[in-house]
Amino acid sequence: MTRYIFVTGGVVSSLGKGIISSSIGKLLQSRGYSITIQKFDPYINIDPGTLNPYEHGECYVTVDGMETDLDLGHYERFTGIRTTRQNSITTGRIYQTVIDRERRGDYLGKTIQVVPHITDEIKARMTAPEGTVDFVITEVGGTIGDIESAPFMEAMRQLKWELSGRAISVHLTYVPYLRAAGELKTKPTQHSVKELQGMGIQPDILILRTEQHLSDGVRQKVASFCNVDLECVVQSEDMPSIYEVPVSMQRQGLDSAILRKLGIPVGETPELGPWRRFLELQRTSTREVHIGLVGKYDLQDAYKSIRESLYLAGVYNEVRVKLHFINSENITKQNIAKEVEGMAGILICPGFGSRGIEGKIIAAQYCREHDVPAFGICLGMQMMVIEFARNVLGYCDANSAEMDDKTPHNVIDIMESQKNIEKMGGTMRLGAYACELRDDSRVRDIYGCKTIEERHRHRYEFNNNYIDEYEKAGMQCVGRNPESSLVEIVEVPGCRWYVGTQFHPEYQSTVLHPHPLFMDFVRTCKG
Ligand code: GLN
Repeated sequence: MTRYIFVTGGVVSSLGKGIISSSIGKLLQSRGYSITIQKFDPYINIDPGTLNPYEHGECYVTVDGMETDLDLGHYERFTGIRTTRQNSITTGRIYQTVIDRERRGDYLGKTIQVVPHITDEIKARMTAPEGTVDFVITEVGGTIGDIESAPFMEAMRQLKWELSGRAISVHLTYVPYLRAAGELKTKPTQHSVKELQGMGIQPDILILRTEQHLSDGVRQKVASFCNVDLECVVQSEDMPSIYEVPVSMQRQGLDSAILRKLGIPVGETPELGPWRRFLELQRTSTREVHIGLVGKYDLQDAYKSIRESLYLAGVYNEVRVKLHFINSENITKQNIAKEVEGMAGILICPGFGSRGIEGKIIAAQYCREHDVPAFGICLGMQMMVIEFARNVLGYCDANSAEMDDKTPHNVIDIMESQKNIEKMGGTMRLGAYACELRDDSRVRDIYGCKTIEERHRHRYEFNNNYIDEYEKAGMQCVGRNPESSLVEIVEVPGCRWYVGTQFHPEYQSTVLHPHPLFMDFVRTCKG
C-alpha cells in the first residue's frame, strides 16, 4: 500500500521545500523503499515553459519532454529517480482537464465547481502513483494562505481523511531571528500552523527553517503550541551546501518520525555510504577552479541545473568550482580578454532570442582562438557554430534563422518539424532523444559508449548542408541523431576542450552520478 507525504510551506516562500522533499525521498530510498516526488504548482500556466526565467528560474525538462518547475531537478539530483509529466502539475493543467471534460459532455446536467470537480481532479492526480511506489511525496508550491493554493489544500485535507493513517502532512515554516531583541521568534510559525488547522489540516511534522540553531526550549514551545510531538519538530539550519540536508534530517530523526507517524516499523538507521563519501569529498576539496558562465540572466536560479552539474563535477574532481556570471550583453571584442581573465573555462549558456548573442559569439571566438576550455549548451552550441562560420568559413553574415531569417548563411536553421507550428507552449523539440557518437571523437571517449540519450529543448538546429565545410575546416559533427541525422554535438579537436551540445546534459547529472561531459570539462579546467 502506497503512503502519502504532503509537504507545504508557510510564512515566506523560498524556504527550500524542494530540498526537504528531495531529502525525505533520499532517506526513504536508503531504507529500501521506492518513492516518487510530485510538484503541484498553483499558477495557471499549463507549464513553466513559456515563463521568463526571471519569473520562475530555470525550466527543467523531463525525459518524456515535459517542461517543468526547477524543483524536479532537485528531485532527480538527490534521488536519481526519473520524473515524467506526471510529476509536475499546475492549476492550469487541472482546469484544462476539467474544462475539456465539460465540453465533451462528461458532466452533462451538472454545475462544474471548484469543490468537488477541481478538487477531485487534484486528488486523482495526487494519488495517480497508487500501487506503483511505496511513498508518494507531494510538494505543494506557494505559501499557506495564498488564495490560489486553497483547492490543493482542500484536496489534501480530504485525502488525509480518506486515506486515514496512510497520509501525513509535513509543514515547513520560518523562524526569524530578531537581532535587536536577540531572540528567535516562533509566532509566525504558530500563525502558519493555525492557518493550516483552519483549513482542517493538522500538520504531523514541522520543519523549522532557521539561520540560528534552535534550542530544545524553542522546539518544545512550537510542539506544544501546534499540537505536534516534540520528536516531530525538526530544524533546518543554513548549511554550507544543500547536499548536507539529508544527513542533517537523518541526524534529527526525520525519517524515523515519518515512519512512526505512518505506523511503519522504523528499523535500523541506514548508513548513506556513497552520499557521505560525496560530502566528505565536498568538505576536503578546497582548491578553487574558476569557471565563467556566459549568459544573459543574472539570477542564480536561471541556470540552476548547469550550476549544480558543474558543482557536482567539481566535487568528484576534488576541486571547488567557483562560478562567475559574465553578462553576455556587456561583452565586446575590446573587453573580452578582461571579462574572462582568471577563468579556467567558459560555459556558454542556453537561451532564446537575440539579446546578448553577439557577446556569446565573441566569447566563443576568444575561447577557440586562445584555447580556453569551452562548453556550449543548446543556444551556446549554436553560437559556437555561428562563430566558426563567420570567422573560419568566412561567412560574415552567418546566423541562426531565429535571429535573422533572411541571412543567406543560415548555419542554424529552423527544424523542418517546427516550421508550421503556431502555438508557443510545449511545442519545441522536447525530451530525450538518442544520439550516436563518432568513434574517433573525444565525446565517444568521455561517454565510454556509442549511443547515448540526452534531453532537448529547442526549435532550431545545425543546418546539415554545411556539414562538409565545417568538418574540412576543423569543427567536427561528432554526435548525430540516428533517425533524423540532426547534429547533436560539435567539437573542435584541435582545442583542449571545445564542445557544443544541442541537448542539455545538465538535466541528467545527479549527486551519485555526475555527468561525464561536466566531469571531463571540469577535469580539463582544473588541469
Ligand atoms: N533558442 C534556441 C532554439 O530554440 C536554443 C534553445 C535553448 O538554448 N534551449 O533552438
